[in-house]
Amino acid sequence: MVEIKLKKGKEKAVLQRHPWVFSGAVDKIKGKADNGDVVKVLDNSGDFLAYGYFNDQSRVAVRLIEWNEETQIDEDWYEQKINQAVAARADLLKAEDTNALRLIFSEADFLPGLIVDKYADFLSVQILSTGIEKAKDIIIDKLCKALNPTGIFDRSDATARTHEGITAENGLLWGEAPAEFIAVKENGITYHINIAEGQKSGFYCDQRDNRLLLAAYAKGKSVLDCFSYSGGFSLNAMQNGASEVTSVDSSALAIETLKQNIELNKFVKHKHTAIQSDVNKQLRAFKEEGKKFDIVVLDPPKYAPSRSALDRAARAYKDLNRLGMLLLEPGGLLATFSCSGAVDIETFKQIIAWAALDAGKEVQIIKQFSQPEDHPVRISFPEGEYLKGLLLRVL
Ligand code: SAH
Repeated sequence: MVEIKLKKGKEKAVLQRHPWVFSGAVDKIKGKADNGDVVKVLDNSGDFLAYGYFNDQSRVAVRLIEWNEETQIDEDWYEQKINQAVAARADLLKAEDTNALRLIFSEADFLPGLIVDKYADFLSVQILSTGIEKAKDIIIDKLCKALNPTGIFDRSDATARTHEGITAENGLLWGEAPAEFIAVKENGITYHINIAEGQKSGFYCDQRDNRLLLAAYAKGKSVLDCFSYSGGFSLNAMQNGASEVTSVDSSALAIETLKQNIELNKFVKHKHTAIQSDVNKQLRAFKEEGKKFDIVVLDPPKYAPSRSALDRAARAYKDLNRLGMLLLEPGGLLATFSCSGAVDIETFKQIIAWAALDAGKEVQIIKQFSQPEDHPVRISFPEGEYLKGLLLRVL
């Protein structure tokens, strides 16, 4: 096996079980590794540190997977990791009112670059590292063994793949192809998912808990759901008796799916407006009309894909939140989210403070949102904590 010796002092993060070795930490490579090969990482004096997937095209030269030298990275290893991840979700898998969940969450489940979501009897897979790409057949086999799915679909069309030098894939990997829309349940609400073309892997199951938490405040209230996608926050608010709901998203497929979901749940009697538009434009238009809401939800896409994009992203978050605050009735609630891993909760709070000053509003934090149990954060990998949000009372 090829050996990667680290520069002096660079073993620290590995010993702390952080799963990334940056290319700048590498001192010498003994042998010739192909991208995606499992390599041995050694400290500068030659002592074993960990095994990981090698890639010389990525900023992360080795994605670590195993810290025990005696352990072999073979079929059994993959089976064990997959079964461990599935076992950790046993309660969710048994839940009667939910059948959309994340089964494997990359580094958090010791399989860096592998994301597997379960949507009813189908699996949606994203492969974002060459190491996982090489083990694809084994992984499919073990997923079938553990879960007996109807079909496995490859949604590896994310831009993250290009950082690893692998091409995008979108197609059936195994079994039956899903219908254009399949129905799933989350907290008792039914959603249509387009596995092949929907955003990300088809659905945002990471907002499952937050949709419920927010809906608890929605009874009798007017709700503006910005970046609504297929209506997660909108439908939960309706379910809980919101007086009217307005959903805004720029994607035609998102709005179409949301309308299907309203029918599927027999919510057609609820007062609802779906607007296909750019949120920034629409918020400005509402402001000019003098329109106000009791609750505003802001769940934008990732504004900061990396640390270098932080300044620009901070300004975009600030502006968005300032506008959201200005559309609230006095004492109204703003549920605001960031799914940028590069923006931590403290930075997010600072951005909100800055937005509040600009809006001329007093703002209280009444709740903090995070990601649900099927998106665990490994304590040695804080970067895995990407979804954060605040429920604010805007005075
Ligand atoms: N809140 C959603 C998930 C939001 S994902 C849920 O609970 O499922 C982000 C959404 O923002 C996507 O649906 C995307 O189409 C939409 N989007 C991205 N940029 C936008 C923009 N400038 N204006 C309106 N919608 C936008």
